[in-house]
Amino acid sequence: MNFDLSEELQMVRDSARDFADRVVAPTADERDREHRFPMDEFKAAAEQGFCGALVDEEFGGTQLGNMGNILIVEELSRACASTGVTVSVHNSLVTSPLKRHGTDEQKQAYLPRLAAGELLGAYALSEADAGSDAAALRCKATRDGDDWILSGAKLWITSGKQADLIVVFALAQEGVTAFIVETASDGFSVGKVEEKLGIRSSSTVEILLDNVRVPGNRVLGSVGKGLHVAFDTLDGGRVGIAAQSLGIAQAAFDASVKYAQEREQFGKAIGRFQAIQFKLANMSADIAGARLLTYRAAMLRDQGRPHTLEAAQAKLVASQMCNRVADEAVQIHGGAGYTTEFPVARYFRDARITEIYEGTSEVQQLVIARQLMAG
Ligand SMILES: Cc1cc2nc3c(=O)[nH]c(=O)nc-3n(C[C@H](O)[C@H](O)[C@H](O)COP(=O)(O)OP(=O)(O)OC[C@H]3O[C@@H](n4cnc5c(N)ncnc54)[C@H](O)[C@@H]3O)c2cc1C
Repeated sequence: MNFDLSEELQMVRDSARDFADRVVAPTADERDREHRFPMDEFKAAAEQGFCGALVDEEFGGTQLGNMGNILIVEELSRACASTGVTVSVHNSLVTSPLKRHGTDEQKQAYLPRLAAGELLGAYALSEADAGSDAAALRCKATRDGDDWILSGAKLWITSGKQADLIVVFALAQEGVTAFIVETASDGFSVGKVEEKLGIRSSSTVEILLDNVRVPGNRVLGSVGKGLHVAFDTLDGGRVGIAAQSLGIAQAAFDASVKYAQEREQFGKAIGRFQAIQFKLANMSADIAGARLLTYRAAMLRDQGRPHTLEAAQAKLVASQMCNRVADEAVQIHGGAGYTTEFPVARYFRDARITEIYEGTSEVQQLVIARQLMAG
């Protein structure tokens, strides 16, 4: 068993790290404070090929696979969790289902522009009364000749305000169906904009569909088989959120080591106290364990092997780890950690979402338990 990244993947990680340090990190606190969407950072990431990680070369992508994608999401999230989730949703929840379930015509129409960052993608499954129970969605799809008419409201849509293209799930007579919806369509509008605890430079909005006409050739996958598309997509997305958790935790850990070496009390650096050393030791072990689970799930998806169980395990463990590590990071910083002077307060707020979106921790436990009982 080889635990080393291939040379190509090391290069992907190093270039994502360099990009995140140079382009994303310097303005992360400011964007968070101003709730400013990372559009410039997204476009710059696309120029590096990061937004086409899951797109095949024939459609203009960099074809880095899920391993490449999670290394990118981890490094971006280390600098800014909001930029991390913007790219994660675009890649894992939009380019990935297009690649896996799209027709050649759909791939040709959208993947090159998504990979180039000309188009920004979003994913709309959740509704007010369909969160953990996503299958309870009520947004309606009605046939009109060859077209479909979509009506209803979707809630909590990441990048929904800025997106050009949204994968929307709606209920047709044949069952839940996935549609590729262009946001420039008549009848599409943005409703409530959420004010959030964390990932404040990511946008989270309600989207309103008032008789939006969607051509018949914009059904993604088969009519009535949308839940298959939704859950297959979320298997990949969850690995992305596990990677986001790794990035936030790594940033919190790195800041803590630095602070422990610099801050002096009782005449010595606090990092000389065993109580602080043991916190750092636990944090590093916690991150390393979650990283292995995340890499395993990504590799299984790349190999086309079953990975629903492993993706849920990775997301559950990595997101819980992220919250523990961010909490300890604030503790190590003492009062300074509770202020905006140090980024650990942002990491602490950003960490919280990783246990909620793309399935709460309880939903990951349900998915894992179901897989165990089925075996
Ligand atoms: C910032 C943000 C961004 C998001 N982005 C997107 C997006 O881009 N696209 C999208 O479609 N959705 C998005 N979501 C929605 C997100 O996926 C849901 O919030 C999440 O799935 C939980 O649904 P809910 O909020 O309705 O909580 P609920 O389902 O109401 O859950 C409330 C609590 O009950 C628990 N619970 C529910 N059912 C069970 C059960 N059977 N057993 C045990 N416990 C249970 C939950 O774990 C949770 O603790 C986003 C949410 C947020 C906050």
